[in-house]
Amino acid sequence: MKFGGTSIADGVKIRHVAELLKSYHETGNEITAVTSALGGVTDGLLENAIEASKKGKVSQVKEFVTDLTKKHYDAVNEAIDDEKIIDEVIEMIDNRIDELEKALIGICYLGELTPRSIDYISSYGERLAVPIIYGAIKSAGVKSKAFTGGEVGIITTQEYGNASPLEKSYQLVKERLSPLLCDHIPVITGFIAESDEGIITTLGRGGSDFSASIIGAAIDADEIWLWKEVHGIMTTDPRNVPEASPIPQISYIEAMELSYFGAKVLHPRSIEPAIKHGIPVRVKNTFDPDYPGTLIVADQRPSEDIVKAVTLIKKVALINISGAGMVGTIGIAARVFTTLADEGVNIIMISQASSEANMSIVVDEEHLETAVTAIKSEFTKGLVRDVTYDRNICVVAVVGAGMDGIPGVAGRVFNALGNAKINVIMISQGSSQHNISFVVREYDSIQSVRILHDEFELEKRKGDIS
Ligand code: ADP
Ligand code: ASP
Ligand code: MG
Repeated sequence: MKFGGTSIADGVKIRHVAELLKSYHETGNEITAVTSALGGVTDGLLENAIEASKKGKVSQVKEFVTDLTKKHYDAVNEAIDDEKIIDEVIEMIDNRIDELEKALIGICYLGELTPRSIDYISSYGERLAVPIIYGAIKSAGVKSKAFTGGEVGIITTQEYGNASPLEKSYQLVKERLSPLLCDHIPVITGFIAESDEGIITTLGRGGSDFSASIIGAAIDADEIWLWKEVHGIMTTDPRNVPEASPIPQISYIEAMELSYFGAKVLHPRSIEPAIKHGIPVRVKNTFDPDYPGTLIVADQRPSEDIVKAVTLIKKVALINISGAGMVGTIGIAARVFTTLADEGVNIIMISQASSEANMSIVVDEEHLETAVTAIKSEFTKGLVRDVTYDRNICVVAVVGAGMDGIPGVAGRVFNALGNAKINVIMISQGSSQHNISFVVREYDSIQSVRILHDEFELEKRKGDIS
């Protein structure tokens, strides 16, 4: 069971989480808990602490550390009753805060910040959260043990900020956790792991979902549960469309497509270990535990819903590559892709018209400059005349396995947008036919999502929660 940042935002919520874990434990379940950082802490470490230390602002760093300490002390006092456990947990927190402060001040004086040190600093969110959950479980009367991802055996590549687990992790985690499960609820930091050399790595933002899935697969869990603040995976982001409704059941592939295409509810890689080991994943609401949530499974339950969900990717940019010299010249696309891959640019969408005189690519906005520079320097000999770009766009995707083989879905999508006078800039359909994605102007993006949510009648159905 993984608990997200909102689920453990403060001591009262952590107490609730401990009670929830206890109740499942007492009804005969063996449970491993995986946790995020307290809500907002990772953002704070990355945006405030690291920024201040980069600029050498020691007093700002100290202020940040004081606030962070208070936040965690308050949580300890609200979540834990037993005085002895409070002392034990406070000592663990003091040690970690001390290490964190030293590292931040070190950066202030060195004036140097590497991807490795960013991972190290951002790991403290989870490393401060775990002792509190551990203490709350113990204080509720159940045995517990606290681990970091590395301590429990998640060993990764050294791609800081986006590391991948090595295969041996599965065996290590199984050996270390299985003996505890009969009478303990172990608590493990999500998001963070270690390289072979014992250096802290992270699995990418939102990575505690991925950690939970790796751990669930390693111990051959019956199910992997991801506890969040929403009633499951919804038909679209409820922040954009209040009528969004929870999806009771969805396939692994659909859930992956949704997360790749911007549904921030799941880390994009969190389904991989579950698929490989055939373990069902459930997304549930911490604050309404009796609600069934969303079940993610291999088999696609026959459903009348052609479209399951609509998603939106923001902070992307469109690159257009054009030139008459591209027509009929073999290998242009290959050169573009290789060049971008060498620069570490992730391509979200591509499209090439049959005239071949131009090619469009969507990339993350943060990669735009690197991508444009790389393409320009790859094609200096006149094959490519122009490389232009546009930052003010978004990608919208319509996802559902039910689209496969059903004619007319694209027609409905683009008709609905056309009727609303929304201009579609670029279109792409995955060959799996599980999604249709397209590019619109940023100012049309939320309206596009609303129109399609309406077109495919995804709004709250009778009997759904409010
Ligand atoms: P966690 O607590 O595990 O970190 P997140 O905050 O990552 O959970 O995910 C929940 C958030 O994802 C919600 O607040 C919601 O606004 C957003 N979200 C975006 N798309 C969807 C979707 N399709 N279904 C559910 N939530 C979504
Ligand atoms: N705390 C990390 C983040 O905010 C990981 C997670 O919450 O899943 O990205
Ligand atoms: Mg998350």
